Amino acid sequence: MKVEFFRHGISEEDIARAANVMRSVFLTTGRVVEEFEGRFAAYLGVEDAVGVASCTAALHLSLIALGIGPGDEVITTPLSFCATANAILHAGARPVFVDVEEETGNINAELIENSINLKTRAVMPVHLYGQMCDMARIRAIAQRHALFVIEDAAHAIEAERDGIRPGQASDAACFSFYATKNITSGEGGAIATGKGRADLLRTLRLHGMDKSAADRYTTLYRHYDLPVLGYKENMTNISAALLIGQLNRIETLYQARDRLWKTYEAELSGLRGGGLGLLKTVAGSRHARHLFTVLTDAGKRDALLHGLQERGVGVAVNFRPIHLLKYYRENFGYREGAFPVAEDIGQRTISLPLYPGLGGEEQHYVIETLKSLL
Ligand SMILES: *Cc1c(COP(=O)(O)O)cnc(C)c1O
Repeated sequence: MKVEFFRHGISEEDIARAANVMRSVFLTTGRVVEEFEGRFAAYLGVEDAVGVASCTAALHLSLIALGIGPGDEVITTPLSFCATANAILHAGARPVFVDVEEETGNINAELIENSINLKTRAVMPVHLYGQMCDMARIRAIAQRHALFVIEDAAHAIEAERDGIRPGQASDAACFSFYATKNITSGEGGAIATGKGRADLLRTLRLHGMDKSAADRYTTLYRHYDLPVLGYKENMTNISAALLIGQLNRIETLYQARDRLWKTYEAELSGLRGGGLGLLKTVAGSRHARHLFTVLTDAGKRDALLHGLQERGVGVAVNFRPIHLLKYYRENFGYREGAFPVAEDIGQRTISLPLYPGLGGEEQHYVIETLKSLL
């Protein structure tokens, strides 16, 4: 049997919606992006949302819009995809890592204040695997020290904790519609934020122009000016069309992953003594069920990873800690031991297949294969 690590859930209806855009005149950022933005903001319960090219672009533009750049420091987690810290570097600022909680893998809010100094401008928490960070606490710390909060919510569209959803307790929340994310257009991203900042972000995502091609297309030609220097990080109408239908089904897609998650938990939580640990879902929170990860015994991960692959089970490692990747080691001098909890999870974690199209037999095969290898 072969079980893919991920298969997207794009339907024929989504494809038809994208095809309609492709038969129209206007392919790039226009009315369809606007429609998606409105629906996405309404879904999240935030003031506004801005469609961009990726979550990396979303993080980068949020930093720029908040005036963060050279000489500034941004506190984040080492246990994330490299894009999180890379975006801070793209803005010219410096990522400062803080170790994570053992139970969730999320940034340890208790340790954040130790890393705040006069250069610190923002905190960038990552809602790892779909479990939200303690945003009430992080917001309180940020307020105490006059810092911005930018959420990397690439895993967490559907999440909630203490009544707070992504984008509701921060200056900006950044989402990904990359090929393997909960909803996808292959590549894409969005920023949830307040109205005024959203307008600035719409300017920054398209070179810094004060009028877009859509404005020139729908009304008499108006000359644009360039009030600020922006970037080329906009979302296309084609991507937006692919996302609108998935957003309409997001709850159904979530329920399907939630059922698969509960089966994994029921089948695998008894194996703690046998060399397999699981992270915790925080009580009273809604986990977005993006990545189901198991923790192997130290030193046994890669053998198990390869064993699963050899038996046809798609797997991934999310993530090897950012500070130990070559570029970060060489440019910032990080060594093993700097963030022991993140390193421990990073050495032991394996992500298993989790997506609405994963069949019961396929999941059974994944579970049985894992048990037999243990
Ligand atoms: C996927 C991912 C990103 C990057 O998303 P892109 O849309 O590919 O730029 C950033 N952060 C995390 C935690 C991710 O998993």
